[in-house]
Amino acid sequence: MADQSNEDAIQRRIRAMNERVSSIRLADMYFYNQPVAELRGGARVMVNGREMGMFASYSYLGLVGHPRINVAAREAIDRFGTGTHGVRSLAGTLTLHRELEETIAEFKGTEAAITYSSGYVTNLSVVSTLVGRGDYVISDKLNHASIVDGCLMSGAKFLRFNHNDMQALEARLQQIPSGAARLVIADAVFSMDGDLIDYPKMVELCRRYGAWLMIDEAHSLGVLGKTGRGIEEHFGMPGTIDIKMGTLSKTIPSVGGYVAARTDIIDYLRHASRAYIFSAALPPAQVAAAKAAFEVVKDEPWRIEKLRSNTRQFIEGLKERGLDTLFTQTAIVPVMCGSDEVAFNMTRLAQHQGIFVLPVVSPAVPPGLARLRATVTAAHEPAEIDAAMDIIQSAGRQVGLLNA
Ligand SMILES: *Cc1c(COP(=O)(O)O)cnc(C)c1O
Repeated sequence: MADQSNEDAIQRRIRAMNERVSSIRLADMYFYNQPVAELRGGARVMVNGREMGMFASYSYLGLVGHPRINVAAREAIDRFGTGTHGVRSLAGTLTLHRELEETIAEFKGTEAAITYSSGYVTNLSVVSTLVGRGDYVISDKLNHASIVDGCLMSGAKFLRFNHNDMQALEARLQQIPSGAARLVIADAVFSMDGDLIDYPKMVELCRRYGAWLMIDEAHSLGVLGKTGRGIEEHFGMPGTIDIKMGTLSKTIPSVGGYVAARTDIIDYLRHASRAYIFSAALPPAQVAAAKAAFEVVKDEPWRIEKLRSNTRQFIEGLKERGLDTLFTQTAIVPVMCGSDEVAFNMTRLAQHQGIFVLPVVSPAVPPGLARLRATVTAAHEPAEIDAAMDIIQSAGRQVGLLNA
């Protein structure tokens, strides 16, 4: 055994994490970082040499591998190559980038849009470019890590409120000195629980207290609203978000992040946000794929309908089978397990029967709230969803989560 007596804090941190990971591996409960070897149609993948039903995908409309999107990516490589000439502000901007940003602005109903190299980087850079020392930023406690990191990096006073508690949000707004700039940020759909922010109330509070409103639509683009435009469409409240942020890596099967907003806001971000100024432009194939994907979302509205009926079937079916799915209303369906160990065991049983789901355990969620985090997409057929739910139910019985 290595001598641990003179370890410094860095080495201790490294060892602690690696010990936790190896004890999980030893117990045959490590399910992370498993390579998908190939796609087999819309909702099936090859993992560890076996074909599984994919129930852990963010490709909500089933667009990964869509022929029209693949063709657009290939043509972009033929025309522009695989990289760019550097950062967007200097030689890195292609006509394709402009076209994608116009497409996003049109889709989101705003004057303009800007793209970044990932959704994570978008939140980090945009939040810290909008607010700074002397300002206030208010964030739901379950907001995505990239929002939290952006708030911390900004240097603004960082206030948080209990998840979806609008009274707590109001109390935060009241506590800010008058005259100070304030930005409220929330996920439209929460990435661990699948529930929606109380959007109408949040808009009302932002108006009453003069706060800017930024919404992260990572899990609502293509998911909420009749035409998949997002949470404003869902609640029939167009034009109520100041800063509409989203990712190009979930419903849109590419990579990157965006903000859609008024022209003056986008121009400001183009000249002030460091991730835009100091990091290379998105590669041509991914830009072309993203643009084609927005067009497919518009041209194939049946996908949104199908996602909606699959979601209904999955949530209602799991509840009928006695499982707790919290307050989800979307394609993100938590199957509550309680302890980390039960979540790991449920995962192993499900994967052994060909259902690819993953456990979410602490610290990603509070201790005692471990879960399978299952997702459905428009690529699933109703019979596949039924079969998956039966397997999850039988796993639940085997681990004692459900009565046999
Ligand atoms: C996935 C996600 C992001 C980050 O997007 P990437 O494009 O994967 O970097 C940001 N916010 C939320 C809510 C997300 O779920």
